[in-house]
Amino acid sequence: MENKNKPVRRVVIAGGGTAGWMVAAGLSKSLGRLLDITLVESDEIGTVGVGEATIPSLQNFHHLLEINEQEFMAETMATFKLGISFENWRDVNEDYIHSFGTSGTDHWTAGFQHFWHKGRERGLATDYGDYCLELKASLQNRFAHLPKGGMNYAYHMDASRYAKYLRKFSERFGARRVEGKIAEVRMDPDGDIRALRLDSGAEIEGDLFIDCTGFRALLIGGALGVEYEDWSHWLFNDSALAVQTTSVREAVPYTRAIARDAGWQWQIPLQHRVGNGLVYSSRYTDDETSQRTLLAAVAGEPLMTPRVIRFQPGQRKETWKRNCVAVGLASGFLEPIESTSIHLIQRSIVRLLQLFPQDGISQADIDEFNTQANTEIAHIRDFIILHYKVTNRRDTPYWRDAAEMTVPASLQHRIDLFRATGRVFRIPNELFAENSWIQVMLGQGIHPASHHQSADLMGDAELAHFLDGIRGSIERTVAQLPSHQRYVEQYCAGT
Ligand code: FAD
Repeated sequence: MENKNKPVRRVVIAGGGTAGWMVAAGLSKSLGRLLDITLVESDEIGTVGVGEATIPSLQNFHHLLEINEQEFMAETMATFKLGISFENWRDVNEDYIHSFGTSGTDHWTAGFQHFWHKGRERGLATDYGDYCLELKASLQNRFAHLPKGGMNYAYHMDASRYAKYLRKFSERFGARRVEGKIAEVRMDPDGDIRALRLDSGAEIEGDLFIDCTGFRALLIGGALGVEYEDWSHWLFNDSALAVQTTSVREAVPYTRAIARDAGWQWQIPLQHRVGNGLVYSSRYTDDETSQRTLLAAVAGEPLMTPRVIRFQPGQRKETWKRNCVAVGLASGFLEPIESTSIHLIQRSIVRLLQLFPQDGISQADIDEFNTQANTEIAHIRDFIILHYKVTNRRDTPYWRDAAEMTVPASLQHRIDLFRATGRVFRIPNELFAENSWIQVMLGQGIHPASHHQSADLMGDAELAHFLDGIRGSIERTVAQLPSHQRYVEQYCAGT
């Protein structure tokens, strides 16, 4: 499709879940004075109602929008998140934390893990996690903002409150909300989308349509017929049960991801309640067993009846086609482990802003958008598959099959390289940096066979001094931090 020189002024966002309102907020704040932005959502259909754990990049999105953190946290009953506790993943009753921090300090030739590895061989090093501030603070339930971004963190938040918060924000910057059910997507003779027809008969015309209709994917899948690439041969989970419960203990500054026989359970502590759920594979278990497993494992009183959510892990082959860009679940979904979905929404928004077709949509922009989106999600996909592939569990068919599956060649190469040499390299623009790969690979039980020779240049005394210095400084810092719960209460009371 060539640039038809049809300027884009009217943007129609279909769907008002987290994706729809994040798009509305991002577009209205940055281009609101140039665009006419309308969001259509249906109270009757509602939203998926999950998606409460985030990663640190959400702070960037909020900086872009100039959102005040205290106000955001108070409005969404948010808590801080320093990482994820992976319980029973390496093996039953074995735990590790993938934190947002970095461990130790790197040498330009070799990462800290090489020095730690040598220290382990010589009996000079303790657990890898002892060299990471965020990880140690998680274990002791402590948190505070530290100068110069000294603590890398994200949030747990109430997803429905977040959508409402962003709605108020977007409306302040001129976005218009229309309540109604989309009954039909009306097309131009040339194949572009012309308008959304609502149940009421009203028609909302636009130049550019953003499909945020969730798993329904009414525009990109339904109207434009873009195919879905299925990744269930790598990512077995296709179902989830979600239930909110009362809090029975202080909110911890990390998400708990507890592996179960045919999936894993999440616990996300908020200020006013806990979000819980079980993600599982219908090939290995059924809904009734899963519901029993979940309800037996939650700590507080359920505030609702558990709800089953079905999904297909994978991605849309094109996320931008003609005059429609899919964002959020309409564009694809991997699974919730590592909380990357909201991050991908925000990346799509930034990419759309960078490639915004104000003078007309060109195929070159579309191709660039789709290439970037595909590359980005493929890296995240590999990182998620890693958690399943390198388990030592063999106790159920689900975990045995996960350990035996053939993974993408790109991932197998990384595992082989780390196992043999302890080396990991971040691919440019990849979300997860070396530190994440190392924490998860070590946490899952891969022990590199060797380390970089730079570490051998240090004698035992020098290496012990280096390692003890890092560990001691972290211990002293953590000891001075307040409890996470107390810090959140005081911080949010200050609004
Ligand atoms: P939805 O929330 O489903 O919103 C769709 C919108 O479209 C709604 O407003 C709906 O009313 C509207 N709509 C649909 N059809 C019509 C119609 N015909 N007419 C009018 N309106 C219509 N992500 C994370 O980052 N962290 C997590 O911890 C996390 N956990 C998850 C756990 C599970 C089990 C699942 C399934 C997902 C999780 N996600 C997580 C993903 C996250 O929930 C989504 O990325 C996020 O909520 C965005 O969803 P959405 O807005 O695309 O879709």
